Amino acid sequence: MKSSASVFGPVPSRRLGQSLGVDPIPFKTCNWNCVYCQLGRTFPMSLARAEYTPAEEIVAQTHRALETCTPDFITFIGSGEPTLHARLGWMIRQVRREQGPPVAVVTNGSLLRMPEVRDELLAADVVLPSLDAGSERLYRQINRPHRDLDFQGFLAGMEAFRNEYPGQIWMEVMLIGGLNDHEEALGDLASALARIRPDEVHLNVPVRPPDEPWVQPPTPERLVRARMLLGATVSASSPGVGEEGTFQKLTTPEAVVSIVQRHPMTLSQIQAVLHGRPQDDVRQAVEDLRGSGRVSSVERFGQSFLVVAEARFS
Ligand code: SF4
Repeated sequence: MKSSASVFGPVPSRRLGQSLGVDPIPFKTCNWNCVYCQLGRTFPMSLARAEYTPAEEIVAQTHRALETCTPDFITFIGSGEPTLHARLGWMIRQVRREQGPPVAVVTNGSLLRMPEVRDELLAADVVLPSLDAGSERLYRQINRPHRDLDFQGFLAGMEAFRNEYPGQIWMEVMLIGGLNDHEEALGDLASALARIRPDEVHLNVPVRPPDEPWVQPPTPERLVRARMLLGATVSASSPGVGEEGTFQKLTTPEAVVSIVQRHPMTLSQIQAVLHGRPQDDVRQAVEDLRGSGRVSSVERFGQSFLVVAEARFS
């Protein structure tokens, strides 16, 4: 078990306003291994639901955080797949209050084929699952799921969840240039969306370092076409990181690690987030962290992104 739970933020989110993040899963524990994952390669690849972090600890940390902030959402979002936590439903019910902030869950959606996972997510106000492919072939190519998962099971689970869940489903589609942005792939995605009937469709493009170096964003023309065919709103796929104030209780090295643990960034992007601190201090902290091996770099899109040392990129 991980010794301490992970509650962070609130961080600004385009879709969720000021979002208090709750990460119940150890770094990069997932049942998919997406080519675009900004956290690198999945290890371990696991289908096992377990109490990775004690649920009571996560709930206590969340309640403590709520004493000092009033976020727009409490968001379960993993540096792995949050539905792999065996007590996710219990945690959602514990942190959700009548007059309190609504609860969102960001998930890849693959475990919604399990009735017990669907039951657990009924307690959430908004669920944001991923749909990057409308066919088995592209599902395997893009999401590279655990060998016991298949696309038809995924789709059936999503449909069943839609039929049972009265809350909001906001579908997240990652569009990758040359992979799922051509007419046939978009047609398949549109058919899958017609079956799932989400309340909203959000289109994302890779802007953070993808696991695979060949992953590229689509052209502006393909993005416009996808938006039209999928009835989507476009997001820049640059999730909220936080303002200087989010990290005020942390030393500069701790703040840098906290940022790149969830969102790998270039030095100048980190300096922009920590703009209230002397830029030389931030640069020095990054150099020291590199020297001590706590962070390393990955080259993508012609830039050098800082990542935590545990991250493994292809
Ligand atoms: S993007 Fe999400 S679902 Fe895909 S491998 Fe990374 S953590 Fe897992």
